Amino acid sequence: MSRAAADTRFRVGRSASGLGLFVRVPFEAGDRVIEYTGERITGEEANRRGGRYLFQIDAGHALDATGREHLARYINHACRPNCEARTVGRRIFIYAKRAIAPGEELTYHYGGIYFRAFIEPAGCRCTTCTRRAERAAHRAPASSRGDRR
Ligand SMILES: [Zn+2]
Repeated sequence: MSRAAADTRFRVGRSASGLGLFVRVPFEAGDRVIEYTGERITGEEANRRGGRYLFQIDAGHALDATGREHLARYINHACRPNCEARTVGRRIFIYAKRAIAPGEELTYHYGGIYFRAFIEPAGCRCTTCTRRAERAAHRAPASSRGDRR
C-alpha cells in the first residue's frame, strides 16, 4: 500500500538541506497536499527508537517514517513554510498555507521541540534563515538604511 511512492504529483530532489520534496502540480491555499504516513508506534517505542523521522501524533503515539516509501518524510523544515502539518483524528496531513507553484519545494515548521533539538544546534538552513545570515554577513558596518524587514 505505498500509493504515495508512485504519486506523480511529487518529486524527491536536491534542496539546500539535503533531499527535499518538490511538487509537479499546483496547489491552492488550504489544499490537503499529502498525508504524513509511517509506521504507527507507541510513544514508548518512539523514545526507544529515536531518529529524525518520528512524528508525534499525541501523547501516546507517533509515526515512524523511516521507510523511503513515506514521501512526506522528505519535506524539510522552514521557518516561513508554505505548508503546515495538522492532526486529523489519528492521522497527520500536510496542508498548503498558500498557493504553491509547480517546481516549489514543500516545507512546514517542524515545531519548537524538534527545532531546538535537531535544527538549531547545527543552524537552520531554510531560505529565511540562510538569507538572514547572508544579509548579516554582507551588511556594511556603517549601513543604517533602515530597510531591514
Ligand atoms: Zn529557518
